Amino acid sequence: MKPHDPANSDPAGQPPGHTLSRRAAFKIGVGGAVAAGSAASLFEFFAKWRSSEAPADVFKGDAPQGEIWELWQKRGWVKEARHYLKLGRNVQCKLCPNNCLLRPGDRSHCRNRVNYDGTLYTMVYGDPCTFHVDPVEKKPLFHFLPGSRAFSLATSGCVFRCLNCQNWEISQKKPEETKDPRGPELRLRPPLPAGLTQEEMTRLSLFPDDVVAVARALDCPSIAYTYSEPTAFYEYTQDTCQAARERKIKNIVVSCGSIEERPARELYQYVDAAHVDLKGFDDETYQRLNSGKLQPILRTLQTLKDLGVWFEIINLIVPTYTDNLERIRRMCGWIAKELGPDRPLHFSRFQPQHKLTHLAPTPVDTLVQAREAARAEGLRFVYIGNVPGLEDAGTTRCPNCRKAVVERDIFAVTRLDIVGDQCRFCGTKIAGVWTSAGAN
Ligand code: SF4
Repeated sequence: MKPHDPANSDPAGQPPGHTLSRRAAFKIGVGGAVAAGSAASLFEFFAKWRSSEAPADVFKGDAPQGEIWELWQKRGWVKEARHYLKLGRNVQCKLCPNNCLLRPGDRSHCRNRVNYDGTLYTMVYGDPCTFHVDPVEKKPLFHFLPGSRAFSLATSGCVFRCLNCQNWEISQKKPEETKDPRGPELRLRPPLPAGLTQEEMTRLSLFPDDVVAVARALDCPSIAYTYSEPTAFYEYTQDTCQAARERKIKNIVVSCGSIEERPARELYQYVDAAHVDLKGFDDETYQRLNSGKLQPILRTLQTLKDLGVWFEIINLIVPTYTDNLERIRRMCGWIAKELGPDRPLHFSRFQPQHKLTHLAPTPVDTLVQAREAARAEGLRFVYIGNVPGLEDAGTTRCPNCRKAVVERDIFAVTRLDIVGDQCRFCGTKIAGVWTSAGAN
């Protein structure tokens, strides 16, 4: 199936490149709106609609049909989506601020959701395109079960279009471009095979209970929903989180944070740790670099704080996009004031990739200056990633006695001087979840 470029798609019969006008949305949206997967009433919908921006572009008429759709259903990879509105035979997804509005046969901006006959479906349930066992430090989470392993998985699709995406081979692909349900069914469950061929991987199913069983068999105390964007595989993530929680396995969500508040609260009640990518601190750059908006990310960070979920923040410094020191200073000030000085912040070095291969890597000096600015704003745990050998880049120091309490060599913990949740040297409590007993 030939991929469509969403920038050139036509969600409401408008010329390519036009965003959906409010008038057009009414034209296709009115016609007996019925709330489904959401308690929102028609009145609430219109009230919200008046205050919101136009939905994101979608892939018009691109939902799979015929044999592919039937095979996808047979495998169990299709499931009715959560958090959406039925608007006659059209649907509107309310999972993320893109608020995709889909006519029958359309595919969502994140590529994973389709309107089939007036119902919104996810196509990636139990359908990961990749999984690995990673050190938790690779997420990166530095204050959560240090030295432990996370069973990490992803499906295709993403709610963003980051120019610098590291995982664009999966995040900017449709499910049918990463999986192929033809051939005998293959479900991964213990006892685990020694390995999987590429062909086996493309038809492999891994449903929520299977994920938990596999994580256990691989001796992983946590499961990480990562690599692409868990909001784009929300139903799969949520059900797996619930299954894992019941069996005392921790859940880690690594996300861009672009999610509406209601689904965020429903999901994060089962999450033990999150890693949120705060990609910048102004709307214009978010739009240009990521095709996103800043405000929803800030709201997600505050929701995580409200819910008491342990979370850390990463900020990738991209030359000419997000390297303005004054803006970095303002971002750090906001984090310290709104989320607290103990919130770990990871600055990460950009490497040329995807659509930004013409840019040079971030100068190390810029990262060091950003770290100084963050510390000056009061943040106590500031790290620098992707710069091997840089002094103190991955060291956790006690904020009281300044002794190193955790040292890391890239993703390996080489020293751990935290007892319970306290500095071994002076007894100061160090923010984080250091033992399984401290997790939810
Ligand atoms: S989760 Fe996907 S379908 Fe839903 S609004 Fe976001 S981009 Fe659109």
